[in-house]
Amino acid sequence: MFMPGPKSRELYERAKKVLPAGISYAIRFFEPHPFYVAKAKGCRVWDVDGNEYTDYWVGHGALILGHNHPLMVKAVKEAVDKIGTHIGLAHEYEVKYAEQVVKMIPSAEMVRFTNSGTEANMYAVRLARAYTKRVKIGKFEGGWHGGYDALHVAVSYPFNEPESAGLTEGATKDTVVLPYNDLDGCRKIMKQHELACVVIEPVLGAGGCIPAEKEFLKGLRELCDETGTLLIFDEVITGFRLAPGGGQEYYGVIPDITVLGKALGGGGLPVGGICSRTEIMELLDHLKYPNKTERAFHGGTYTANPLVSYVGCTILKEFEKGYVYPHINRLGDKIRNGLEEIFQKYNLQIHVTGTGSMIGIHFTKKKPINAREANEGKDIELSKKYHAHLLNNHIVVIKPTLPHLFLCYAHTDDEVEEFLRVTEEFAKSIKK
Ligand code: PMP
Repeated sequence: MFMPGPKSRELYERAKKVLPAGISYAIRFFEPHPFYVAKAKGCRVWDVDGNEYTDYWVGHGALILGHNHPLMVKAVKEAVDKIGTHIGLAHEYEVKYAEQVVKMIPSAEMVRFTNSGTEANMYAVRLARAYTKRVKIGKFEGGWHGGYDALHVAVSYPFNEPESAGLTEGATKDTVVLPYNDLDGCRKIMKQHELACVVIEPVLGAGGCIPAEKEFLKGLRELCDETGTLLIFDEVITGFRLAPGGGQEYYGVIPDITVLGKALGGGGLPVGGICSRTEIMELLDHLKYPNKTERAFHGGTYTANPLVSYVGCTILKEFEKGYVYPHINRLGDKIRNGLEEIFQKYNLQIHVTGTGSMIGIHFTKKKPINAREANEGKDIELSKKYHAHLLNNHIVVIKPTLPHLFLCYAHTDDEVEEFLRVTEEFAKSIKK
């Protein structure tokens, strides 16, 4: 088992009294308790006991340039000096930010900003319902879109229960669940239900970094067109990570609505966004639609605050230059190929999925193509053992029952080679 240091223990004892489970998000909990971070830089974090770790979680995948990148830090200071953190009135930086998003995201003609990916998905679904005047929505098994009620179903295996207490039947009864990477299965279900939209991650993130097959995504696009359903790409992880234009650029499949988050904030500032073509986005325009029942609502106190707008826009321009992607994608291939070689060499039933800088490690009999296969017959105990082994070797990966990794621009061949060395040590030890 992993044993954090005494200062982390002390903080955990205090935290337990004031934060349920001693953390602010269940996914950040490790057995027996988390270590508490004191500082972070590049691909490293240091805990309060002075232990150094190589981080493959990089802020829930948000930090494509790594922790506290100098450009991001400089932009934060500039923003505070120039205008401040929050105004609550229109300002020039939100216009520049929106122009930059529209320039980079193929499906975007207009954008609205939110404060999180959850919120962006909520508004996207509402917009789709307002546009199509349909009620039901589709989502995929294992698709994680945040905590919004209507999308808070069929996330964890066996996908047959709500993900939380407190969800009313009414909130989830119009959500139809679809099988990932199974076009025939989707067709059958989509012909039975009139759906306002289908929400899909181009690569399942929390579901195990499992990429959609290109033919599947293309087929789904056609199926949506045939049935008058809006295709929503939840690009909260894949946006700006797979390519400057996200998964839609990477796959060459253009959705109707795109949901953004994480890296949209440039490296750690809370934000989300919805974008689409003008015809759809205009439904948010209270001038064009003065009657509130004819338009869809979106807003919020901190939406497009100057801090996030300035920093987000600055870093998006950095992504646009494109130099990040060959580096993180090459390292992604190197780690995937290296892991596969190790698991084959030691004849282990462990499989590697992912694409670009997203990597999933599955303790399953065969390589999964969807979240169902990633869970059926999974060796959870071995997965937890591997996770603890990584932590004991100062490598941070989330989560014990489904290890998945994100790379950032600060990772190098050295870190990847160390990751592979530590994994081989694990493989050897369980083969004995
Ligand atoms: N969609 C996807 C694909 C995500 O990975 C996440 C966050 N992990 C969300 C939505 C929710 O975003 P947030 O945590 O910012 O609410």
